[in-house]
Amino acid sequence: MTFRQRHLLGIDPLHPTEITEILDLADKYVDLNRQSIKHSDVLAGLTQINMFFENSTRTQASFELAGKRLGADVMNMAMQASSIKKGETLIDTALTLNAMHPDLLVVRHPHSGAVDLLAQKVNCAVLNAGDGRHEHPTQALLDALTIRRRKGRLHRLNIAICGDIAHSRVARSNIILLGKMENRIRLVGPTTLVPSVFSEFGCEVYDDMNEGLRDVDVVMMLRLQRERMDGGFIPSEREYYHRYGLDAEKLSKAKPDAIVMHPGPMNRGVEIDGDIADDINRSVIQEQVEMGVAVRMAAMDLLAQNLREGVV
Ligand code: ASP
Repeated sequence: MTFRQRHLLGIDPLHPTEITEILDLADKYVDLNRQSIKHSDVLAGLTQINMFFENSTRTQASFELAGKRLGADVMNMAMQASSIKKGETLIDTALTLNAMHPDLLVVRHPHSGAVDLLAQKVNCAVLNAGDGRHEHPTQALLDALTIRRRKGRLHRLNIAICGDIAHSRVARSNIILLGKMENRIRLVGPTTLVPSVFSEFGCEVYDDMNEGLRDVDVVMMLRLQRERMDGGFIPSEREYYHRYGLDAEKLSKAKPDAIVMHPGPMNRGVEIDGDIADDINRSVIQEQVEMGVAVRMAAMDLLAQNLREGVV
């Protein structure tokens, strides 16, 4: 086993061989999840606690399902109703949970860096389920698995990530992962949402969709992260859709077999046309959700193995 991490806090610390190992194992879990009996005991006896300090649909559901399919005892903390509301600090909450001996802690938090901080205070493996605009590693891994299965490889592809790059942890984790695997990454969006500083990360920056999508293999659309915006980044949603919303005409600039991705939640008629999102010949959005469960099973399986072997 080459995956030697104690936590999964981001893509940044991972070596390409570790990424490949997670994806290879996730492929096996895709097969398991397609059977009528979807069960394994690799996490039997272990306790998984999910702490989501920010709203989530797909990520929370798939972490819960992943843990249950692997036989863990899974507990979802209702953070809205927790003592955080009574003034308890994140660290005190973490220490309280730590005293209950969890083995896997899945955490989403609105502040970048909060999950790393928490990981330093507990004895179990911590998985980052999204921290502020910093990282969302399991999203990038599930995107990578989807691309690898659809395109037959995860290198030397032209990939356009479009929309609100500035506020997106999905974009950040994907830029790191796809860069490590030696793909050509284009970032496409208005200059207010795609600052030119991103060219320092080895990405090409475009503010014109028709140019940015030309001959790409993968089109990844992102939602406007309004919860992290503190000003007018776009003139209006209508104008934004006109210039940056993915419709059939803009998509025609990409390769004829280019796939369309979106991490969800999707805003139809803002960043993507509903017909494109539903086009089963182009859109792999539902497949991304399926891959999400498998990738989270793989990540928790590998972390649990390291936990047993005492990897620090
Ligand atoms: N679900 C993703 C996230 O948590 C993307 C989004 O919210 O737009 O970052």
